[in-house]
Amino acid sequence: MRLPRPLAIVLCALSTGCGGGEVARAGGAADGGPVSVDRSAVLAYPDDPQALSDADWRRILTPEEYHVLRERGTERAFSGEYWNHHQDGVYVCAACGQVLFRSDDKFDSGTGWPSYTRPADPGAVSTREDRSWGMVRTEAVCSRCGGHLGHVFDDGPPPTGKRWCINSVSLDFVPAVASPLEAGATGPTSSGPSGD
Ligand code: FE
Repeated sequence: MRLPRPLAIVLCALSTGCGGGEVARAGGAADGGPVSVDRSAVLAYPDDPQALSDADWRRILTPEEYHVLRERGTERAFSGEYWNHHQDGVYVCAACGQVLFRSDDKFDSGTGWPSYTRPADPGAVSTREDRSWGMVRTEAVCSRCGGHLGHVFDDGPPPTGKRWCINSVSLDFVPAVASPLEAGATGPTSSGPSGD
């Protein structure tokens, strides 16, 4: 995305409720807690992506982003930014900022595209039948802006058996921020009294 947009919208997209996608969880679905993200690294996104025209998208997105997200294109395998990316954090829609996937659910599929066992939230990614190129596949679409993300297949690893095969171009990455304890904050030391 190249369009300057209000930071508040980004923060909204990263919170539960507004963007339609639950904030990704650093510890996996079982933990249930929100992950902290480096919000300074987040770009701003459109307030109401459904209201944008095709001309708007052409202006907002780069030519490559437009081709993949709006024309259902596919980036070349092993060419994208995230197929071999292993940082902790969340992957958001490059067009609208909705949280789509989390690093905990990412796995190496060997395909050359970033692959996940599930979306960050079941409502974040929609699916629809794709009969292009003489095949019947299930297309993955951002539920907030309708942008094409990739496809989902039934040959993934546990626990879901799904492989969400996603174009890097459709994603932006927001790194996780370590909690104070993980960042090295210390509790009472053994060099002095405990305080009681
Ligand atoms: Fe989107």
